[in-house]
Amino acid sequence: MSDRYSLLILPGDGIGPEVMAEVVKVIDWFKTNRAMPFDIQHGLVGGSSYDAHGTPLTDETMALAQSVDAVLLGAVGGPKYDDLDFAVKPERGLLRLRKEMDLFANLRPAQCFDALADFSSLKREVVAGLDILIVRELTSGVYFGTPRGIEADPTPGNEGGRVGINTQRYTSGEIRRVARAAFELAAKRRGKVCSMEKANVMESGILWREETQWVHDNEYSQIELSHMYADNGLMQLVRKPAQFDVILTDNLFGDLLSDAAAMLTGSLGMLPSASLGAPMANGRPKALYEPVHGSAPDIAGQGKANPIACILSFAMALRYSFAEGKAADQLEAAVQTVLAEGVRTADLMGPEGGQPVSTSEMGDRIVAALSA
Ligand code: NAD
Repeated sequence: MSDRYSLLILPGDGIGPEVMAEVVKVIDWFKTNRAMPFDIQHGLVGGSSYDAHGTPLTDETMALAQSVDAVLLGAVGGPKYDDLDFAVKPERGLLRLRKEMDLFANLRPAQCFDALADFSSLKREVVAGLDILIVRELTSGVYFGTPRGIEADPTPGNEGGRVGINTQRYTSGEIRRVARAAFELAAKRRGKVCSMEKANVMESGILWREETQWVHDNEYSQIELSHMYADNGLMQLVRKPAQFDVILTDNLFGDLLSDAAAMLTGSLGMLPSASLGAPMANGRPKALYEPVHGSAPDIAGQGKANPIACILSFAMALRYSFAEGKAADQLEAAVQTVLAEGVRTADLMGPEGGQPVSTSEMGDRIVAALSA
């Protein structure tokens, strides 16, 4: 494994560059104070790349993304680009990165910081201390399966009508590789995986259950594996979320489950994510880290954005790309400390009010807490 840590930073559009500037402060802190050997390159993605090059992602930036250990992305998009052709819309840059890097495992932690427990749509006692990780298959399933499309309805008597078609399709290999990712992650957490599908009504769900069980029995029998129908899973997630450690699920159900889990923890400005692919020659996985939120054009350029989602995405990079778990813990603890001190960006202000801090003050306070 290389002893250098190579990163490509793609700030993107809207608040992307603002929140990424705070991540750079954090990276500098780890370089200076922990002698971490980061090599950083910068590039354009989304609307900013379209403005400079007429495309949301150049081939050069794509090649760079393939060559580094990890890509950190801010956000893409904005009203300025709404009328562009589909092929050059900002989102296409992000989709190209995910597709060509073959990032099949999407990781969305739902972690409730004690100081923010009252922001949850659930009662404090249900969410306090919550720490779950949703692993969603990202490159297959019903969003990609064929046949797909809208066609004339061939049924006699339905002339003039149409049918919409999508296909849920999973191979054993696609299920096994994402299941392995979930078991590996569980082994570094509390050792529990709950796999969710609809094996009661879908053949792809039966295969999902069988293959997940096979990987468990043959390779990860030390991990506790349970299975749940996804509809019940969603219900359990809002009823008693603390029963879960790692939730493993497909692309469609993962889309729904991860958004529901996001509401358990409060603000969009707090939610990080990672998308991982196969290991590279140096043993590190292909990896893209990004906050869940978008480019927030309504607050862009005003110093109001919460940088914590992007900073916590970097904490995930420390943990999953660079095996710097202690440093990741330290960074998450620094965020916890700052929130416990009552430091808040505007999106985290409660009904009691107070004076919000700016994006850069929040970054500075987190860096100061790292040194404390
Ligand atoms: P959004 O996430 O950008 O914003 C939703 C709301 O949350 C806004 O009111 C915004 O001000 C607030 N918000 C988001 N992030 C915040 C932060 N860090 N701090 C404080 N407040 C924050 O979603 P949207 O408004 O639906 O989309 C805006 C643009 O972003 C669109 O062009 C959309 O296509 C794009 N988008 C990009 C991504 C991505 O890059 N991964 C994801 C979602 C949306």
